[in-house]
Order: sequence, then structure tokens, then C-alpha cells
Amino acid sequence: MVSGFSSLGLVEMTRKRTRESLGALLLEPCGVCAGKGYVKTARSLAYDILREILREARQFNPKEFRILANQAVVELLLDEEREHLAALSDFIGKPISLQVDAALGQEQFDIVLL
Ligand SMILES: [Zn+2]
Repeated sequence: MVSGFSSLGLVEMTRKRTRESLGALLLEPCGVCAGKGYVKTARSLAYDILREILREARQFNPKEFRILANQAVVELLLDEEREHLAALSDFIGKPISLQVDAALGQEQFDIVLL
């Protein structure tokens, strides 16, 4: 989003530029939605994570799965979605632990096989 460019001087200057170069100068891709214009909810991401663990449990045989995700997703899995998490853990016969990773964005997660 562009804001705060009310100076006449800048407007005059940027008018002379092409649309592409103006974009390159003033804008950068949105790192949250990667240009889609919307992001998955924490709940949607939580379900993605549970599906991914189920998929990996068919392929690999770790002692434990550890979910790394942002705070909102971890809280959801510990609270409202804890029964789904427990049911999955029972189904695959492995413990599933959770860890907040603040470096992970809204739509990012890692599953560590321990
Ligand atoms: Zn965005």
C-alpha cells in the first residue's frame, strides 16, 4: 500500500515514470499474502498442518512429530482444536508436540520429525 506521498514534487516526478518502474520504486510484494490479497485463517492453517502430519505419518516413522507454527495457530491447536490434535495423535500412534516459531509467517509452518 502506498500512503503518505502527498508532496506535489513527488507526484510530478512519478508521473514521468512508467507504471512498472513506479511500482518497482515504491512497492514491494506483500510478504504476508504473496499477492493473493487474502490469507488463510489460523484454523485453516491448523487443518493443513493436521493433514500434512497424516500424510507424513504414512511415509515416515519418527518417534514424534513436532509442529512449528506462529502463536495463533499453536494456541488454536492447544485450545479449540485440541481434540482434533489428540485424535490424530491417537490415530497415527505418535505424540505430536507444538512449538511457537515467531519467525514463521501467517501461512507458514514446519513439521519436524523427531
Ligand atoms: Zn497482502
